[in-house]
Amino acid sequence: MESLEEPRFFVHIGEDPYVDALGGELWINVLYESIKYGLAPKSWTDFLYLSVGGTLSNGGISGEAFKHGPQINSSNVYQLEVVTGKGDLVNCSEKENADLFYGVLGGLGQFGIITKARISLQVAPKLVKWIKVLYSEFNLFTKDQENLIALHDTFDYIEGFVLTNVENNMTSNSSGKTLYGLEVAKFFNPHEKNITNKKIDEILGKLNYLSHTFLESQVTYVEFLDRLHVLPELMVEDRSNVANVSFPWLNLLVPKSSILTFGEEVFTHILSNITYSPLLIYPFNQSRWKDKTSMVTPEEDVIYLVSFLTSAKTYSSGLDGLQNMLTINKKILDFVNKESLGVKQYLPYHDALEEWQAHFGKRWDVFSRRKKSYDPLSILSPKQRIFQRGQIIL
Ligand SMILES: Cc1cc2nc3c(=O)[nH]c(=O)nc-3n(C[C@H](O)[C@H](O)[C@H](O)COP(=O)(O)OP(=O)(O)OC[C@H]3O[C@@H](n4cnc5c(N)ncnc54)[C@H](O)[C@@H]3O)c2cc1C
Repeated sequence: MESLEEPRFFVHIGEDPYVDALGGELWINVLYESIKYGLAPKSWTDFLYLSVGGTLSNGGISGEAFKHGPQINSSNVYQLEVVTGKGDLVNCSEKENADLFYGVLGGLGQFGIITKARISLQVAPKLVKWIKVLYSEFNLFTKDQENLIALHDTFDYIEGFVLTNVENNMTSNSSGKTLYGLEVAKFFNPHEKNITNKKIDEILGKLNYLSHTFLESQVTYVEFLDRLHVLPELMVEDRSNVANVSFPWLNLLVPKSSILTFGEEVFTHILSNITYSPLLIYPFNQSRWKDKTSMVTPEEDVIYLVSFLTSAKTYSSGLDGLQNMLTINKKILDFVNKESLGVKQYLPYHDALEEWQAHFGKRWDVFSRRKKSYDPLSILSPKQRIFQRGQIIL
């Protein structure tokens, strides 16, 4: 997709600014282009070396989602140019060819290839206060996260993480214990520094974290957004042996009503003796954004993204081996299914058609109807294994 012809960008400045970017463009380049005009998109992913079309065909979730929704929210993406499976080049938006627009957003590449996207922009702040604190109690951690996302005027970015099997010396009273980290950020401009600090102190004063675990830094907005540029080196330290590293990632969307049951079993039992990292967990509020896209989420207002993002040694049969990590993933999935926790996979991976149908639930009819309309010969994205290449959709 990166081979598409230039011009790569068109930035519209004015009352409702936006950038037109090619589908194969990386988000890091969208950032650098729009920041030239003092503007930036509102909703991000943690890692920016992903393509516009790639994240828009999934969701695009990060710590800004509680405020702005995922990248596929129609307040973040105004219009798409798409090549359908029939070979038609179609512009679509909420007003024009809306069925294709919503279908393609979160549509796992099933209905069309996104060749261009119009991304909404806002005035970019200059600086970021970035704070991390730890909790020992899962219920206090989730309660604070939920309170923070419920308020409009708290932080601009809210995420969290889990540390499993923590050694004695990390906190005064935690031996082989699970700890929960809250990660928040407040965006501001230099002249707002004092008022921002005061506001942060006020919000933090109401939270229940372990007071001696407070960590704060100040970085530029671009440094903050591009904080994971080192990720590829961290993920594969030894470039000469790439084949021996696998990424058995599992991303789950867990409804608020199930999160304590989920946390109790998964973090303190299934993962209790394993140092599992990274493991992200943070809630966002669907009522501020939910629309008619193809992305499937649990039927509740507040949902948590729980991302198991470990790496494994492909050929090892030990605890750090791929097979062991896949077994752990299976244990987690078996648990959520057995307990009917209402969990859905984000970046879903399913083996059989019945599993896909269960994933989409009552939205399967619309999904398969759209496949028939826009890609009746099942040419697009067969590796998602929903429809087989060449299968004629009746
Ligand atoms: C290191 C890393 C960090 C990540 N962090 C986050 C995160 O913080 N938040 C988050 O939400 N996701 C995250 N993801 C997941 C990411 O959103 C998806 O993997 C996404 O597909 C990546 O885009 P890509 O350009 O790499 O897509 P590719 O791997 O190139 O494509 C993946 C699939 O997306 C579809 N697709 C790709 N391009 C298009 C297009 N132009 N038109 C239509 N369909 C298309 C196709 O089905 C394709 O098979 C991360 C992934 C990685 C590898």
